[in-house]
Amino acid sequence: NEALARAESLIALTPDYPEPGVLFRDVSPMLADGPALRTVVEAMVAPYEGTFDIVAGIEARGFLLAGFAAALTGVGMMPIRKAGKLPRPAAAVSYALEYGTATIEAPGVLEGHERVLLFDDVLATGGTLAAAESLIADLGATVIGSAVILELEGLGGRAHVGDVHAVFTV
Ligand code: 5GP
Repeated sequence: NEALARAESLIALTPDYPEPGVLFRDVSPMLADGPALRTVVEAMVAPYEGTFDIVAGIEARGFLLAGFAAALTGVGMMPIRKAGKLPRPAAAVSYALEYGTATIEAPGVLEGHERVLLFDDVLATGGTLAAAESLIADLGATVIGSAVILELEGLGGRAHVGDVHAVFTV
């Protein structure tokens, strides 16, 4: 698929970010390109069409993708935020990072929205998506699957999460 190949070429390889030795995949040029953004978000949603009642995006790049997907499919969107940003968090989950821990929180908006499709930009170790899955379970809803732009296959993140669809894999 030519449109997808073009979109993938707009992901910029960024050496030594956020620290020396890490090759970061910067999706900003892809997000900035209208046809590429549409092609990628359509590909993220395609396997799940008709199976979800709401989308959830993980701060911050997951927000952009989930917002676009919500507009495309006519469902609403729930932001999953870093700790301390929501006025009324209904659930919180802490998870391990390479150094230390992080906490994510969600608002209590899932009443009547049982089936959730999760969005983030990159699947690396899977810690972030796994934490988001357990957050949604704590809220009494079901994650029907997750969609990411890019999976870093060598890190084995897929083993730690439920069904996940990656548009690109490296
Ligand atoms: P994980 O929890 O799977 O190890 O890391 C995934 C989180 O870190 C995602 O929220 C993602 O935004 C970010 N991340 C890790 N590596 C990269 C990368 O190479 N590029 C981008 N854009 N995000 C990354």
